[in-house]
Amino acid sequence: MVYDSIKSIACLVAALGLLACQEPHDAASNDGNEAGGKADEPQGGTDGSSTSSSSGVSTDDPSASTGVVGFELEPSPNVIRVQVSWSPDDGYALGPVKRELSGTAALLRRAQQVDPLGSFVGVVSDPATGEEILQQTIGIGVSYRELTKSLTFRFPAFTRTATFTLFAPDPETGEPTEVLTETIEPDSVSMVLPQDVRVTTIREATAQPALAVTVYAEGYLEGTEEYFLESAQTLVDVLENNEFPGIEHMEFTAVFAPSTQPLGSATDLGFPVPVWDSFLTLYYPYWSSFSRWHHVMYPTDEERFRDALAQAPYDYPFILTDSSRFWGAANYNAYTVVPAGTSSFTGLVLHEFGHYFGLHEEYSSQDTELLFAPSVSEPWSPNMTFQTDVTEIKWASHIDGEVPIPTPSGQWPSVGIGAYAGGYAGEDSRSLIPVPDGQCMMSVGSDFCDVCSAAMHDKIEADLAP
Ligand SMILES: [Zn+2]
Repeated sequence: MVYDSIKSIACLVAALGLLACQEPHDAASNDGNEAGGKADEPQGGTDGSSTSSSSGVSTDDPSASTGVVGFELEPSPNVIRVQVSWSPDDGYALGPVKRELSGTAALLRRAQQVDPLGSFVGVVSDPATGEEILQQTIGIGVSYRELTKSLTFRFPAFTRTATFTLFAPDPETGEPTEVLTETIEPDSVSMVLPQDVRVTTIREATAQPALAVTVYAEGYLEGTEEYFLESAQTLVDVLENNEFPGIEHMEFTAVFAPSTQPLGSATDLGFPVPVWDSFLTLYYPYWSSFSRWHHVMYPTDEERFRDALAQAPYDYPFILTDSSRFWGAANYNAYTVVPAGTSSFTGLVLHEFGHYFGLHEEYSSQDTELLFAPSVSEPWSPNMTFQTDVTEIKWASHIDGEVPIPTPSGQWPSVGIGAYAGGYAGEDSRSLIPVPDGQCMMSVGSDFCDVCSAAMHDKIEADLAP
């Protein structure tokens, strides 16, 4: 696969001491399908001096600020954001490229490592040597481009002319394919304009390095900030009470700006798709072919969406909407969105945040917008496999030697973790999951299964990139 070759090249570069190569590590993977990412701290100055956020977390990481020799990277929070627009007729085109102060010390570190998970890969390389300097992956499945209409990558700001290359999964085979190569001149990149937002620290990290979980208000009208802040606190309580992996490293900050209109009910607004005039421009993606479009939210204007997120540093953007309906959405390394007023808040928060870390559906009916290409041979999600040879199953280390594969559901719970038929919203009969449908939080269970917990631990550990 093309991305495999990228990884191999990156590992070679790593061998030369230039780009860190993240090895698949641990339990949830034995085949390279493993958590990636790395992350850490928020808010800081732009001059390279050590600064502190409102909660006192240092943002600079001297060890990560130099980057590749001859290709200097600026310290956090300086970021160059690259947007790629997509249309079924015209394919991919480079969209706005902007500077912003949304980075963290962890972003600076993890962008110099290879993430073995993910669907869409953006790579920044040195045009003189071809060396890959920075990378980011996003997305869960092939529909991501249709649902967002644009894809966004954030890189630590670089100081020299660079080449940006986008690899996207082939819509049929899922094979990573080079679809766009453009030159970026950092000197000609304009800065994101500041907006009138109110930023409040909700909870500091209790362990370092820190990860910035930045909570944004969407669809809240003027005068509802206190209500939003209460919901943001409830979000923290849910994650703490459920001992969410890596919670000790998470620093929570709330960002409020009023929207000019409430979210309202899910409505087909026609074409061309009008921009939903809220803080983040999120709306139900009626423009997609996804049958449950009224159960998820995606940006109607990717540039405005990312300009708004960029009003504060973030590793994990978590959006709360002023809605009480039952729905939620998240994509790997992109964003998580949950309605604050739903009676199913706890379950939705945990389930959707799981998607952000790459976990797939462990329920076996309905529908999901997170589908991979139809002829993909193996999904990269750490909690789903098409393999029937136990030695090829990414969570093999969790399976006792005598457990049959596929594992009959009648053997649950006596044999524990196996590879049970189900998951993937019932979209592919090859799908196997670690526990029977209904047991894990990625289905309708009340806790994450051991494989999902381990995968999130691994992903967050990689995001910390200590
Ligand atoms: Zn699970």
